[in-house]
Amino acid sequence: MKRVFVNGYGSIGSRIIQFIADDHDVEVVGVGKYSPDERVSDAISRGFKVFVPKNKIDHFKNFDISGTIEDKISDCDLVIDASPGGIGYENKKTLYEPKNIHAIFQGGEKITGERSVASFIFNSRVNYEKAFDKQFVMQGSCNVTGMGKIIQPLKEKYGKKIKRLDATLLRRWSDLEDSKTVVKDSIEWSYNPHHDEDVKSYMGVDTPLFIRAFKVPTRQMHVHAMDVRFDGPAPNAQEIINIYKNEYGVATLYGVKGTKDIRDYAESIKFSFKDTNMIHIHADLTEVQDDVVKLTYSDDQTGIVVPENHLLMQAMLFKRKKEDAFRHTEELFHMYEKKRMLEAHFKE
Ligand code: NAD
Repeated sequence: MKRVFVNGYGSIGSRIIQFIADDHDVEVVGVGKYSPDERVSDAISRGFKVFVPKNKIDHFKNFDISGTIEDKISDCDLVIDASPGGIGYENKKTLYEPKNIHAIFQGGEKITGERSVASFIFNSRVNYEKAFDKQFVMQGSCNVTGMGKIIQPLKEKYGKKIKRLDATLLRRWSDLEDSKTVVKDSIEWSYNPHHDEDVKSYMGVDTPLFIRAFKVPTRQMHVHAMDVRFDGPAPNAQEIINIYKNEYGVATLYGVKGTKDIRDYAESIKFSFKDTNMIHIHADLTEVQDDVVKLTYSDDQTGIVVPENHLLMQAMLFKRKKEDAFRHTEELFHMYEKKRMLEAHFKE
């Protein structure tokens, strides 16, 4: 059985390990923890073995840890790195490359420049098979993953008829369970956001995507307002909405007043971590003006990349056929059922 280690137990790592623990095709060896805080006990209470860096072992004297990260990952087939943005590169250099281990990196890393972690960004809707035989692959960030799910179906249907995609990203300040970060009463902007370059890296450099990004004081979700400009009159709104009817991980919702409505519903229905694991098209905000379709969708930042990591893991470890991998991911994530419930609750 393939052995998988999750390195980092924050917002993303804690979710990934919880889901893949139910995957009987892999053995989840344990999780890497870097600070001796209450989350060590949380991981142990969930049944995970906790490993820590060799040089910090003394800091964890009060916890029942199972050994060091350095020793443990040596006999693993794959590490899913869920370290803070930029640290994945350090781990690649100090751990994964020297030990010749395969690794998945998260969206806070880079695929260009000196600190590149991998040669490409994964998006299951676009390039699933490309991950076969790769030692290192980077999963796109939540925004980058969500945009792929929106743009790829548009591209397949309309191709060169799309002249421009102008997106304004309203990014959440921090995650729900991140109590340490103070959410400031401010709207901050990003200079040179990485998102369009990341999306173009896997959808083609000629994708006519232009992005502005703002960080807003909320913990709930991201919202993207995307204007799709056509060469000639735009299709009607219903035609656009219909494109997403059968898309995996895309729900079409009506009557939502804001992102918290969706989280509250996810919580009430006991979705794991209050996540929907998908994006939500706000159908009643879709408008057409002349040659432009104005699309608005929200993006479950913490949830959306977790099934993606599971799909990527299957591509890298088993080179599984795409349909079989999606079927298997569905067994763990129940995305069809979540989509059905969301759409039944937020209906026209
Ligand atoms: P986080 O800060 O919640 O968690 C990171 C964890 O890594 C912490 O527990 C930290 O102690 C631990 N850590 C510290 N040093 C480490 C090391 N050397 N190796 C491994 N782990 C180490 O961060 P997060 O939100 O889980 O983000 C992780 C990655 O996922 C980042 O690249 C981020 O950009 C990406 N991502 C985050 C989100 C999100 O919504 N939070 C969504 C998509 C992608």
